[in-house]
Amino acid sequence: MKRGLIACMASLALVGCSGNTASETPQALDITPAVFDAGELSQTLAEAIRFRTISAPGFEAESADDFDAFRAFLAERFPLIHSRLEITELGGHSVIFTWRGSDAELAPVIFLAHQDVVPVEPGTEERWTYPAFDGVIADGLVWGRGTMDMKGHLITLLSAVERHLAEGTQPARTVYLALGADEEVGGAGARAAADYIARTGQHAWFTLDEGGFTIMENPVSGTPAAMIAVAEKGYMTVEITARARGGHSSTPPQHTSVGLLARALVQIEEAPFEHGLDGGPTRAMIAALAPQASGMAGFAMRHSGLFGPVLTERFMADDASRALLGTTIAPTIVQGGIKDNVLPQESRALVNLRLHPRDTTDSALAHLRASIADLDGVTIEPWGSINDAPPVAATEGPAWDLIAGAALAFAPEGTPAVPMMLTATTDARAFADVSENLYRYAPVRAGMDDVARIHGDDEHIAVEDLPRMAAYFHAVIGAAVRADADR
Ligand SMILES: [Zn+2]
Repeated sequence: MKRGLIACMASLALVGCSGNTASETPQALDITPAVFDAGELSQTLAEAIRFRTISAPGFEAESADDFDAFRAFLAERFPLIHSRLEITELGGHSVIFTWRGSDAELAPVIFLAHQDVVPVEPGTEERWTYPAFDGVIADGLVWGRGTMDMKGHLITLLSAVERHLAEGTQPARTVYLALGADEEVGGAGARAAADYIARTGQHAWFTLDEGGFTIMENPVSGTPAAMIAVAEKGYMTVEITARARGGHSSTPPQHTSVGLLARALVQIEEAPFEHGLDGGPTRAMIAALAPQASGMAGFAMRHSGLFGPVLTERFMADDASRALLGTTIAPTIVQGGIKDNVLPQESRALVNLRLHPRDTTDSALAHLRASIADLDGVTIEPWGSINDAPPVAATEGPAWDLIAGAALAFAPEGTPAVPMMLTATTDARAFADVSENLYRYAPVRAGMDDVARIHGDDEHIAVEDLPRMAAYFHAVIGAAVRADADR
């Protein structure tokens, strides 16, 4: 996961004020939580952290043995999963486990967790309280790279399934556990897992991945909010090429390719995409938080139809929140010319777009091309791998009631379940064609500073979060595998 939640939460400060009336929907799931041992889970996680399962360019050879060793560790630690579930290797250390349901007609459910972590940025090692790969348990925390993103999630998810197997749970519907090994560098493992499910001809009821947490002091009211990501933005980079006559710079044309490219970039930036509260979960996010807000802001949030323009203006004033309302445009690379007195025949730029669900890669490309249609010699083409924003998951109905209702069962009383959009990408996007309802959430009780530590220094997770996470996954799986769960 990249830092998408920060953008989302930072935006809330804009509409924020104090107050704390509880939200009423959905109902907390009525369950008796399974009891997991915090000491055992934290030991297992600490061991998991010690495997340097790093995915980053240049780390492939160095990490290969650690990925193998990590898998051997999981096999030893979760023997029932490894003896009773079908194991399919997907290449590149990614793997999918199939826990076969008794009724092949029922839509399966998919749980994702990636095994890989990002490296520690060279030169920042000294900033860590404990070395990033030592797996230290201290001060009520498990420290290390991957504790939050996302070996804590992975270990507690597998612990929940292992417990179900020990308890003799017989699922009516099939459960897939897809453990990618390259989420941080493109997610080929997730795509391979999705292809595997596609070949079975099945269409899943929901997929659960990382991305949302229970934020303990949300910026609107300072009280907890279970932030459940029901959407994420799409991704597209375009290459803009400007061509003009070459030759000696003493007799230039009116516009060199560099000048033409500059003009194209200006025109693209000055033709922004549509921005607004609709077409994604932003209006639903505002509605879910509205009961917590008081004063004028609370009134506006509770009447977002009437106050749409006011709320939109507030969101537009800040980079993080503006990103929630529309497709963003970011020129990131420009290249052109080799010598100060030579006319460059070709100059190019890369522009990175993060696509709001209301736009597609095709419509975005058409929009960009229209914005430079008057410029001769400039072309725009997609560059690298691109993907539309996956469909927005349901925020009502059985899947939402299960995921969000279970979240509330493990959250402090009065916590609202808040649907949101990640501005970053997750592995879940690969499952858009084989699954309804992509959700991203784990019941970690996080502060904004905890979220900021993901991919940063001193990443850690509270020991007390781990049994709650395992119990949450245990509850979600137990409820989901029942034949009538999706009705
Ligand atoms: Zn991640």
